Amino acid sequence: MFDLIVRNASLVDGRSGIDVGVRDGRIVALETALSAAPGTVGEVLEADGLLLSPPFVDAHFHMDSTLSYGMPRVNRSGTLLEGIALWGELKPLLTQEALVERALRYCDWAVARGLLAIRSHVDVCDPRLLAVEALLHVRERVKPWLDLQLVAFPQDGVLRSPGALANLTRALDMGVEVVGGIPHFERTMAEGAESVRLLTELAAERGLRVDMHCDESDDPLSRHIETLAAHTHRLGLHGRVAGSHLTSMHSMDNYYVSKLMPLMREAGVAAIANPLINITLQGRHDTYPKRRGMTRVPELLAAGVPVAFGHDCVMDPWYGLGSADMLEVAHMGLHVAQMTGQDAMRACFDAVTDTPAHILGLEGYGVSVGCKADFVLLDARDPVEALRLRAARRAVVRGGKVIARSQPAMSSLNLPGRPQQVDFRL
Ligand SMILES: [Zn+2]
Repeated sequence: MFDLIVRNASLVDGRSGIDVGVRDGRIVALETALSAAPGTVGEVLEADGLLLSPPFVDAHFHMDSTLSYGMPRVNRSGTLLEGIALWGELKPLLTQEALVERALRYCDWAVARGLLAIRSHVDVCDPRLLAVEALLHVRERVKPWLDLQLVAFPQDGVLRSPGALANLTRALDMGVEVVGGIPHFERTMAEGAESVRLLTELAAERGLRVDMHCDESDDPLSRHIETLAAHTHRLGLHGRVAGSHLTSMHSMDNYYVSKLMPLMREAGVAAIANPLINITLQGRHDTYPKRRGMTRVPELLAAGVPVAFGHDCVMDPWYGLGSADMLEVAHMGLHVAQMTGQDAMRACFDAVTDTPAHILGLEGYGVSVGCKADFVLLDARDPVEALRLRAARRAVVRGGKVIARSQPAMSSLNLPGRPQQVDFRL
């Protein structure tokens, strides 16, 4: 008995002609020519050799500010600091109903694009904790479709903003599951380092994960990632801590970075780059040459540091574009980091699937026997083609049920094969 069988799928690891059998929301069989007696299969999905991928995962997002673009005005300079100021203007005007409605709208977009797990930072500097309450509500509401993991994020600085530490602790008590931070926005380097110490200790006491906005700056001397790695190692938080952005690494001295990356590896600290946002917000004080601002992705991977790509913003005070499409995010990351080799392009696909799943600690993630029956059938034959085409999601499956479908691009020329596909393989 199977609730669902996917026939003739290709997998991310290169296997093809695979049938996937699903029962009670889990993958129970994965083999070629899976046999099933007539009348014992609920639904059959014909993959026709297309890629069956685990769902997309976004390791870094802000669901409390999403879809607020233009409220109360647009970001004229396009800088990170004007974005933070603009968000400060918007915060007193927020209502819980509007927050919930925008977040649900975004989750709808995400599900349609096969994005079924999101780590969202939620600002805890507003003592009303309106956004925390709203997103806790949304987390429960969307559970059948999407895993939402929340980070208690002191946007205005846990030391710099009055009451922020108490609010952050209250958010954790309410059920927010990850400790956030923003050391480069504290008043001084010393206070930034102090914020990293107290927040990692808070996480260690409570057995929680940590994900800090860290060194989101073009200042090569912004080195809070070093402090984050050191406290992670001291407190035994290996594998539970991520540094988000790390854009200052782009501008750092090469010799210093050659010491820093092994420290990150030793502490098991993961890196989360946000290519769409880093490439547009960083380097704004430069004339020419103009820095890209994204962290050193291929070098971190070569040093054994896991790197995920996050979407970060969609239509908010920092970024007026975006559509919950993690293939667009990976496509930009690939270009900015010049990761055009075959293995490098596959690593970019992993950066929006397996790697963030590991960073979030998702249970039962993957297309293997015993995993949850959550996957995406892409209109592409392998991960590189998926990136090139930002492929249509032919079907999105959650718990063994099809929850979204998209049509592939078609023309009326009726040539053999699918539009935009070529027959040669490397
Ligand atoms: Zn962010």
